[in-house]
Amino acid sequence: MDIHEYQAKEILAGFGVPVPRGGLAYSPEQAAYRARELGGDAWVVKAQIHSGGRGEAGGVKVCKSEKEVAEFAAGLFGKQLVTRQTGNGGKGVYRIWVEEASDIAQELYLGFVLDRKTERIMVVASSSGGMEIEEIAEEDPESLVRMVVDPAHGLAEYQARELAFRLGLKGDQINQMVKAVRACYRAYRDLDATMVEINPLVITGSGDLVALDAKMSFDTNALYRRPQVEALRDPSQEDSREAMAHDNGLSYVGLDGDIGCIINGAGLAMATMDMIKLSGGEPANFLDIGGGASPERVMTAFRTVLSDPNVSVILVNIFAGINRCDWVARGVVEAYKAEGLTLPVVVRLAGTNVDEGRRIIDESGLPLITAETLAEAAEKAVAARPKRAA
Ligand code: GDP
Ligand code: MN
Repeated sequence: MDIHEYQAKEILAGFGVPVPRGGLAYSPEQAAYRARELGGDAWVVKAQIHSGGRGEAGGVKVCKSEKEVAEFAAGLFGKQLVTRQTGNGGKGVYRIWVEEASDIAQELYLGFVLDRKTERIMVVASSSGGMEIEEIAEEDPESLVRMVVDPAHGLAEYQARELAFRLGLKGDQINQMVKAVRACYRAYRDLDATMVEINPLVITGSGDLVALDAKMSFDTNALYRRPQVEALRDPSQEDSREAMAHDNGLSYVGLDGDIGCIINGAGLAMATMDMIKLSGGEPANFLDIGGGASPERVMTAFRTVLSDPNVSVILVNIFAGINRCDWVARGVVEAYKAEGLTLPVVVRLAGTNVDEGRRIIDESGLPLITAETLAEAAEKAVAARPKRAA
C-alpha cells in the first residue's frame, strides 16, 4: 500500500528525519493561506498523488508569491496528472502540499528496500540524487552505495557512518546523515514498510540535511497490526475496481482485456489466464475468490467484475477442494438473476459436490454456457465474445 509524500514526511519526521515545514491544502485558496501561514518568500507547491516523477510532469513548482501559489494549485486540482509511473490515465490531484522552499547545494538519494537475495533490508544511497534510481544505476553506477542490514542488530551506527563517508559527506553532515539513515531504518522496520525512498535528500546552502521528497510503501499483509498506517489509505489513488475488491476481501488485479474471470486459487487463476491467451483472448482481471466461497461471496465477485465496463464475457472456473461446487453454482445463478445479466457467462465446475453444482446450473433455466475442462472453458469464453464491428 502506498501513501502520499506529505504522510511519509510526517511519519519520517516522527522518527527524527528533518523535513521542511509545510501544510496541506484541498483548494487553491487554502494553498495560498498555507503559504501565508508558513511565511517567507518562496514555497514549493506539490501535487499529492501516489507516484514519483511529478516534477517533470508539471506537478511541482517553486512559487514566489501567494498569487502564484494559488494559480498553480488551481491548475492542478482535479487534474489527472500523468507521470512516467502512472500510465496514460494518470492519477487525480485532490490534495496539494505547500512547503517552505529549500535552497539546494547538493542532492543525494537514499532508499530502503527488501533485498530478496539476502532476505534483509538493504540501504541504497547515492551522491547523485534528483534522478530516479534506475537512471542513477545507468548513468552513475559508481556513485551507488549498498548496505545490507543484519536484523538482529539493526542498522548499526558504524554502518551509517561508513555510508556517509562513502557519499563524500564531511563534518557535521556526517552526524546528520547517521541520524537520518537510522531513523528511516527504524520507520521501515517498526511500521512493516516495503519501501522508503528519499529523493532528493538535500544538503542546503547552510549545510543542513533535509528530506525534500519522501515515499513509503507498506506490506498489505501486515496492515492488520498497523491501523495507523491503514488509516492513511487513499482510495482516490487506487484502481477503483481493485479498491472495491479490497473492501470485500477479494484478491483482484485489474487488467486490460474483456474476459472477466472468477476463479478460486491464485494458481488456477494464472493457468486460466494463460489458457485464455492461448485461445486468442485477453483477461479483464485476475480475481481469486479463495476457499470456502459462499454464494454471497460469488455474488460480490460478479459485482466486482461487472464494475469494469470492458468486460464482455464472464468465465467462472472453480476447482473445488475446500470450496463446494453447489455453493458456487447457487452464487452464479443468484448473481445472474440479481444483476439482470445479458452478457455470456461460461461456467466450469470440478471437484467437491460437482454433480450437485452442475444440476443447479442445468435446472436454473438460465442461458449459462458450461464446460468440462479448463481448455474448453477458455475456448468457449473467447468464442462467446460479442463480435466487434470492423
Ligand atoms: P518527484 O518528481 O515526484 O520525485 O517530486 P520531488 O519532490 O522530488 O520534486 C521534484 C523536484 O523539484 C526535486 O527533484 C527538486 O529538484 C525540486 N524541488 C523540490 N523541492 C524543492 C525546494 O524546496 N527547492 C528547490 N529549489 N527545488 C525543489
Ligand atoms: Mn522525488
